[in-house]
Order: sequence, then C-alpha cells, then structure tokens
Amino acid sequence: MVSRPPEFCPHCGSALESATVDGRERERCPTCAEVIWHNPVPCASVAVVDRSRPEPAVLCVERGVPPGVGEWTLPGGHMEVGEAPEVAAVRELEEETGVSVDPDALEILGASTMPPRDGKHVVTMHYVVDGADAAGEPRAGSDATNARFWAPGEFDASGERFRPIHEDRFREAAALE
Ligand SMILES: [Zn+2]
Repeated sequence: MVSRPPEFCPHCGSALESATVDGRERERCPTCAEVIWHNPVPCASVAVVDRSRPEPAVLCVERGVPPGVGEWTLPGGHMEVGEAPEVAAVRELEEETGVSVDPDALEILGASTMPPRDGKHVVTMHYVVDGADAAGEPRAGSDATNARFWAPGEFDASGERFRPIHEDRFREAAALE
C-alpha cells in the first residue's frame, strides 16, 4: 500500500500498468502480478475545550510547516504504526502544544476525509476533550510557531486565518455543550 499514486512497483521496481480491479482503475505490477494499493492515510486530531471562560475556547496551533504556514489549526497528525487513534491524537497534542491528556478522556467528535494533496488522501479522526482533563500550559512545539486557546468570536475579531479544512471542527468543538 502506498499513499501517493504509484508509478513503480515497491517490491521489484517494474513500471506499473493500469488494470480494472474491483470496479476501479488500479496500478498492477506485471512482474509480481500484484496490485499496488493506493489508500488514504489515517490521521488524528483533538480539540481541547476550555469551558471555564465566558466563551468556550479551543486549543489551537499556528502552523510552522507547509501546507498552510501561518494558518491556525487543531493539533493533530499522522498515526504511527501500531498506535490507537486516540493515542496518536494525544501524542500529537503534546508534541505540538506541550499539553497532556489521558487518551481515555477523549470523546469522538467525528471523522472526515480531507481534500487530496499531491494525490495523497487523508482521513482524520477528530476527538474532543474538556480542558479540565488536560495538564500543562500551552507552548508551541514541533511543527507549530504558536499555541493558544481561541474562542471563535475572539478569533474572528483577530484577523487571523484558520486552515479552511479544519475550521468547521474548531467551531463545532467550541459549540459543544
Ligand atoms: Zn513488482
């Protein structure tokens, strides 16, 4: 399995040829006689919601690496092999913000596919957790240039820009009862 459209066989290096398999066009190795599956990649994110404020606020990070440098997003990233999605979400949270949460405290917010980028498709499991279950002061970590809580109204007044594909989740998490 590969995450971007394959041209060559990862086993033997042969140029792949197209074939219709299970009703879809796939790439197959003529030497190994195997389909090289091109599948989405799983990611996980978590919205830490501070409900102790007049307007609930969500812990966000400002992206320091492409795509979307300078845009705000929810902490998250790729799952590692052998890792449960909620464990991946809290690992990414701690790496990017320094804030730690018990994976068992997470609740599922939803799951969505993201628009493909360079032929790579991502599926993200979105989690939410109450700020009362989180420990540590936010500080920007890996891949982030800033980390802080934003209430949606405060964010809108700031002139900052949210990464469009994650903006709905930010507002959805802040609006949860
Ligand atoms: Zn091959």
